[in-house]
Amino acid sequence: MRHSFSTSNFYLKENPKKILDWALDNKFAGIEIWADVPHFYVDNVKEDLLKSYRKESGNLTFSVHTPIYGVGIGSVNPGILRESFRQLENIIKWADVMPFEIFVLHAGTTPSDIPQVRNIVRDIIYRSMEDIKKVAQKKEVEIVIENTGISDRYWDRDVKNLITLMDDFELGLCLDIGHINLCRDPEGEYRALEKYIKHIHISDNNKTNDDHFPVGEGAIDYSIYNGMLRKFNGLTVHEIHAPADPAEAILRSRDNLNKILVKNVSRETFKRTKDDV
Ligand SMILES: [Zn+2]
Repeated sequence: MRHSFSTSNFYLKENPKKILDWALDNKFAGIEIWADVPHFYVDNVKEDLLKSYRKESGNLTFSVHTPIYGVGIGSVNPGILRESFRQLENIIKWADVMPFEIFVLHAGTTPSDIPQVRNIVRDIIYRSMEDIKKVAQKKEVEIVIENTGISDRYWDRDVKNLITLMDDFELGLCLDIGHINLCRDPEGEYRALEKYIKHIHISDNNKTNDDHFPVGEGAIDYSIYNGMLRKFNGLTVHEIHAPADPAEAILRSRDNLNKILVKNVSRETFKRTKDDV
């Protein structure tokens, strides 16, 4: 396992250069670029920024989380769908400037849970995926789909939808351990998804909200994942919501996870010592 973290953790704090220096100083293996506001939204990223990132990145490995704020590859609004694809295509072109191990994509949301609307959204997602796959193949980048089915709003609320999509397009999975603990059958769905894992997002929660606590400070039972995490040689991205002091919270999350893995326990005796807000 290689520890990484998302630039989204530093939302409204720091700037890209400081985030990079902090990752190097604290010996992370990677950084996931959150390709959305505030730091890396597509129209704000010039080639120079990526080039300087590449130049000063040492041994860091980079991944990208593609945009999610107001956009989506399953949008039923044709204008938003066009804009979503434009942003995605431009972000995939970043691969011309610097190497990225993985591009993480959400399947999308649905405006209604009735089956007819879900089927319309499904068709839009499939048409989008055909186009995205062509762009990704041309640029030789790997797209993975993240499990997002934490409520009925998400098209992949039913894990079978996600599995079929990955099978149909030969895609791997970004397993989000926070999200899977908010779905209907966390352990069952995890077992069904395990063989697709290429990339991991990690955080903790109290199993009712997507809290993004540091690992070990919520209610998630890590013993389910310990064996897989120890063998996993992809990037494990800490996604921690702690606006007051994100740096400290990410380090706590990394330390807690290392302790859990060494001791092979479901959790440590961690308690949330801070509110992190
Ligand atoms: Zn995500």
